[in-house]
Parts: sequence; C-alpha cells; structure tokens
Amino acid sequence: MNRKNKRKIKKIIIVATALIFILFGVLLIKEKLNNDLPPKDNKEEESVNNHNEQEEETSIEPENEPEEEEPEEPVQPEKPEQEQLPEEAENSIIIENPEKIDVLVNRRRNLPDTYIPEDLVTLSEVPTVLLNPEVNQLRNDAYEALKELFEAAKEEAGYVLCARSGYRSYNTQTSLYSSYVNSYGQQAADKYSAKPGQSEHQTGLSIDITCEALNYKLDTTFGETDEGKWVSENAHRFGYIIRYPKGKEEITGYSYEPWHIRYLGIELSEEVYESGLTLEEYFQ
Ligand SMILES: [Zn+2]
Repeated sequence: MNRKNKRKIKKIIIVATALIFILFGVLLIKEKLNNDLPPKDNKEEESVNNHNEQEEETSIEPENEPEEEEPEEPVQPEKPEQEQLPEEAENSIIIENPEKIDVLVNRRRNLPDTYIPEDLVTLSEVPTVLLNPEVNQLRNDAYEALKELFEAAKEEAGYVLCARSGYRSYNTQTSLYSSYVNSYGQQAADKYSAKPGQSEHQTGLSIDITCEALNYKLDTTFGETDEGKWVSENAHRFGYIIRYPKGKEEITGYSYEPWHIRYLGIELSEEVYESGLTLEEYFQ
C-alpha cells in the first residue's frame, strides 16, 4: 500500500509538474504571441488612429473652412483692392495743391488723407437738413456763393433750396465707405461711394442740395423737379456746376447726381457750363 501510495504520489507530482510546465509553456507562448502582436496591433491602432485623425481632420476641415473663410471674406475685399491698386497706381495721383479752387478730385486723383481746408465755415444762414455739424460746413467762398444761389432761387423763381451735405472729412469718408463695403460688398461700394481721399466733399467746395418736394432726400428725380431744373440752368451764374451729369458716368466715374454741385468760382464755372463738358473733359 505504501509503495502504491508513493507511486501514486510520484505520478501525481509528475503529472502536476508536467501540467505546471505545460501551463507555464502555454503562458510563455501566449506572452510571446502577445509581445509579437502588440506592435502589429499598435500599428493597426496607429493607422486606425491616423485614419480617425485624418477622418476627423477632414471632417473638421470642411466645417472649419467655411468658418475660416467667413472671417477671411472681409479680408478678401482687400484682395481685389490690392489687385486693382497696381492698375490704378499707374494713374493714381496724390494731389499736391488740394487747396486750389479748381482742384480736380476723382477716382484717380486723391486728396491727401491729412487735408482739411483751412477756411471752413458753418452754413448758418441757409436751410440745412442734417444735424451733424461737420457736413454743415463749406469753404468760405463756396458758402458765400451758395447763399447767393439759394437767395436767387427764392427771389427769381420762388424755390426754396436746402443744403444737405457739404464738407466731409477723410475719416468720415473712410467710415462711410467701409459701411458701404460691409453692407453691399466691394463692387457696389465702388459704384456708389467714393473711396477715402477720392470724395470731392473733402475739398469743402462741394455740396449736396435738395428741396421739400424730395422730402429733403437725395434722389435722381431732383433733376426733374422745378428746383432741380432751375439749379442746372443757373448754378454756373453763382460759381457752381452740376459735377456728375447724366450720361457721363464713364468719364466722371460717378452715376448721375443732379443734387451734387461743385464750386469753381464764377469765371470757370461759366466756361465749363458753356462748354457742355465734364470737369474731367474740360481739363484734358
Ligand atoms: Zn455729393
């Protein structure tokens, strides 16, 4: 019995150790396999991660692009401007004597950004529309002539003319122009608004006028009113011209503006009026 028991115990021990070895071996193999696999798994995971990242990136990109484009868009209007600049630069001039009464200001001839006329006066003795004190100013000679023009309209024809917008500073034109760009885009802004430095209003020699028939607003129908017709036929007698006539848009660079009058002094304004030319054509 003892021997049998001993043999049994030996067998159990052998089997147990064999099992332990087998287990150990299996564990070793498993570990080996695991050690071999991880790099593959990692690579796969990495590549999967990369895919995910790429997918995430690509899926994020389209979302980001419009968002990025949107803030870029306000910047983009500068691009056409920059593209236009070299073209315009050929003909673009900074005016050297902006204080001259016959100064020619347009889309090619710029007033210096620092230019402020020295003899601006307040339009205290003519009817005005706007509250902004800046626009209720003109250079002294232009204002004296405007008073005579308005008085003559009243005395000769019984028309009451009203001053709406005279002098405009470079800074005011800058904010006006950029508000146009923001609201209507670059193209529309360039069509209907002057760029800073290119507005005749900065000379203090130009003024937009209106009348009650137009509810004191600015509209091309001013040219068809009795008041507007009288102005176009008589303004030159007092030193003013209609600066942007109908059908001359390509020459002046501006749409027809029957309300925008420009002071040139009586002599020159009569010559320009008689010639039937725009100021651009007259100076050529
Ligand atoms: Zn004007």
